[in-house]
Amino acid sequence: MKVKFMGAARTVTGSCYILEAAGRRFAVDCGMHQGNNEIEKRNWDVDIYDPDKIEFMLLTHAHIDHSGLLPRLVQKGFHGKVYMTPPTADLLKIMLRDSAHIQEMEAQWKGRKRLRNGDAETTPLYTQKDAMAAFPLFSTVSYGEAFSPSPGITVTFRDAGHILGAAMLELVFLEDGVKSRVVFSGDIGRPAQLLIRDPTVIEAADFLFMESTYGNRNHKDETESLNELAEAIAYSYQKGEKVIIPAFAVERTQEMIYSLHLLAKEGRLPADMPVFVDSPLAIQATEIFRKYRDYMDAETKAFLANGEDPLNFSQLRFTPSTEESMGINNTKGPAVVISASGMANAGRIKHHLRHNLWRQGASIVFVGFQAQGTTGRKIVDGAKKVRIFNEDVAVGAKIFTINGFSAHAGQGQLIDWLGRFKTEKMCLFLIHGEYIAQQELAGLIRDRFGIDAAIPDYLEEMTLVPGCELARVAYPEKAAPRIDWGFLIADLETRLAQLRERRGAMEGKAWVEQTELRDRLLEVNRSLSGIISEIH
Ligand SMILES: [Zn+2]
Ligand SMILES: [Zn+2]
Repeated sequence: MKVKFMGAARTVTGSCYILEAAGRRFAVDCGMHQGNNEIEKRNWDVDIYDPDKIEFMLLTHAHIDHSGLLPRLVQKGFHGKVYMTPPTADLLKIMLRDSAHIQEMEAQWKGRKRLRNGDAETTPLYTQKDAMAAFPLFSTVSYGEAFSPSPGITVTFRDAGHILGAAMLELVFLEDGVKSRVVFSGDIGRPAQLLIRDPTVIEAADFLFMESTYGNRNHKDETESLNELAEAIAYSYQKGEKVIIPAFAVERTQEMIYSLHLLAKEGRLPADMPVFVDSPLAIQATEIFRKYRDYMDAETKAFLANGEDPLNFSQLRFTPSTEESMGINNTKGPAVVISASGMANAGRIKHHLRHNLWRQGASIVFVGFQAQGTTGRKIVDGAKKVRIFNEDVAVGAKIFTINGFSAHAGQGQLIDWLGRFKTEKMCLFLIHGEYIAQQELAGLIRDRFGIDAAIPDYLEEMTLVPGCELARVAYPEKAAPRIDWGFLIADLETRLAQLRERRGAMEGKAWVEQTELRDRLLEVNRSLSGIISEIH
């Protein structure tokens, strides 16, 4: 049995693992690489996936960082079946077309620039036609139904509690009469997430591939997050300004609608403050959520049984058309605007940021993970100005970063999920996380469970032998690009500067707060000197 890490190795995006088992070659996920230019270059070079030699694919969920390269691989010769849950298939159809649209727009924009320079036009990574060519390959299977995509391989999808339809994969391989149990956690949801159920507890695996996005952080408590949202609303309402919420179109937007519904019920959302959902993709995704009532958790079902619609309330407005969207910025007065993309690097949210980011009294509320290199991350990291549509926009609005709405388990929740496995000797691979987070989580796992987790690198290949004797195959020649050190250092330096600034403002504050800050400062300092010494 062999595995090759095609992405989400020491980074978060680009999930794709090519496995060779039971005489077959197949892929788990097929995600797009997102973030800075260096990382996004990986999307173009898909020959290294050998697409026509991938026999089938298993998709954990519809997020683009797990599915977005599928049209590109189809374009380059992949023609096997793609297995997923029914909601994932519905979501994927709208998400891949949206992703293709973004690729087309980007190519058009770059193309115009190149033509002006006298260069040739650029082609998009893939088109809407390429995206739709992937749809006939979809094959859907519900949670809990074991199926066999080829002899010797059995697959079962389990609810990952991450977004609607998201799955963990339980695989059983039969090779030379020996059975191996392989589990891919997919993205593990946060227990107590609104709308969907909690992540499934799995008890047995010989090989476990586990996500580690929040390997070094715990989330705030849910009530506190709702209070912070209410605080942003109160602040901007009083100033007559808008609350802008960049949110992923799928799951986070619906969770925000539900949260605002709860605040409206408690009287913490003024009745004359309209809430706009301004993203065609989010609006379509909300319809898909309505279709899959059976996939909701017990609380949501009780809400529905009571005749209440968690995804609707009186001041909620959907604005699918461009005119309606532009209308939001032409109207004065307080409002809440939920728009995509969630990391503010594409989509209508960019218009709302251009109109509101510089305004004193406005609020920008971040409710999701912000990857390195994105506009969202720059704002969260305290940039004084950001570039939007080729223009510098000053940051005058109040910035809120609420991490309690995450669709990912926090550090403690990851440890709890892992702690439920009963297998004595398990090989553990940490994937889908930034390296710093993964190292911290690995340390914690070693202390708690005595397991030495492997942290595979991009394009690394390993043979899996029962008993955890991992035979690492050397990196292929073209393994570059690797980690973007320059960016990482700049990122840490910004964080260090912020912490220093906060330290200045902390004089006289409670001792507990001060020590917590000191620990974080030391931690960032340590990472920074570690990186610098590794470069020298
Ligand atoms: Zn995801
Ligand atoms: Zn992911």
